[in-house]
Amino acid sequence: MVYPIVKYGDPVLDREAEDVTEFGTPELDKFLEDMFESMYAAKGVGLAAPQIGFARKIAVIDISNAENPADKLILINPKILRVEGRQEGEEGCLSIPGFREQVKRGKRVTVRAQDAKGEFFEKTGEDLLARAFQHETDHLYGKLYISHISPLKRDLIRRKVRKLVKAGEWK
Ligand code: ZN
Repeated sequence: MVYPIVKYGDPVLDREAEDVTEFGTPELDKFLEDMFESMYAAKGVGLAAPQIGFARKIAVIDISNAENPADKLILINPKILRVEGRQEGEEGCLSIPGFREQVKRGKRVTVRAQDAKGEFFEKTGEDLLARAFQHETDHLYGKLYISHISPLKRDLIRRKVRKLVKAGEWK
């Protein structure tokens, strides 16, 4: 099932999500399937559960856009372990459609997370994958990429979004 994407302004995006404690259940498997489906439908390379309205520490990533099954990643209760180097590049978010900004991130990032069965694993990603690890983990702690840009640019986005809300064009 494809869930609609929750937009910037919804409080579910601003708070830390709950840890997942039950693994290997049919409910979790179905939810993960729905997350991938929702991410592909929205043409994203990553999706965090709060973005479809569930305050749980679950994110899915596929930087190949469904081209390469080996790129499908599930991060449950992820934590960033290591950040090395810097990269600067354009970043957007399915919850803030129509906007993109230059964001500085780590170039090589190691994440520790659990899989659908609850097994812990570590994975290191570079460039886009490193960016996705940071962006999606941020979501699970109530943080959006615009918290990494200048206050001036952030205010500009806020004001534009407020106008869209008033015009009924932000849903
Ligand atoms: Zn996002």
